[in-house]
Amino acid sequence: MRRPLVAGNWKMNGSRESIEALLDGIKSGLGRVTAIEVVVGAPAIYLSDLQCQLQGTAVAWSGQDLSAEAPGAYTGEIAASMLLDFGCKYVIVGHSERRAYHGESDQLVAKKYAAARAAGLVPILCIGETLEEREQGITEKVVARQLNAVIELEGIAALADGVVAYEPVWAIGTGKTATPEQAQDVHAFIRGIVADKDAVVADGLRILYGGSMKPDNAIELIAKQDIDGGLIGGASLKAEDFLAICSAAN
Ligand code: PEP
Repeated sequence: MRRPLVAGNWKMNGSRESIEALLDGIKSGLGRVTAIEVVVGAPAIYLSDLQCQLQGTAVAWSGQDLSAEAPGAYTGEIAASMLLDFGCKYVIVGHSERRAYHGESDQLVAKKYAAARAAGLVPILCIGETLEEREQGITEKVVARQLNAVIELEGIAALADGVVAYEPVWAIGTGKTATPEQAQDVHAFIRGIVADKDAVVADGLRILYGGSMKPDNAIELIAKQDIDGGLIGGASLKAEDFLAICSAAN
């Protein structure tokens, strides 16, 4: 039985003040949400605040990116060991905004996945097609390529230590959500790729859906057989909405 996971991705939003209020709201409303795992992903500069406020609670925290390199001369970068130092359990890798705006290739994302895993962090690997790719009918080809980059570098066992988030790029921050059927089809395809190599890893792999998940569509999406939770952007910035999605997953 896979334990659902709901992960917030605050992206480059918030201030110390707003984050404190958001965390207070999340903590006070989470009491009855016990069957799932809850994670919030904050800008790196605020991770020490999250550590102070979330230590000892049921909410884990996550980086939004990391360097593929070990500590050294990489100005501005953050190593896996540094995220661990601030108590992160998870780190998002290969978010479509990193791929699009920072030119991250499948191979670099795979190296980041490997660096996270080697340090003992749980990588949340984001994969998904653009609108153009969906319209060209190459969604499966794209997600397979993105997933296989990790499998080729690290072997199938690497997916036993991580989480995959299927995030159709056209649904991120747009208010357009994949239908539960569209999402389920791709999730089943992803699990199938893994199952072809290792049925046990496939069975245990949590595959989150991300892309305009909101309180009013979360239940239907998460009810699908291969959707094991959500990666939530916009709706994770409001405690009430995030909590409603957590309750749906619960
Ligand atoms: C995301 O940033 O990963 C995301 C899914 O954003 P949103 O929920 O706003 O579409």
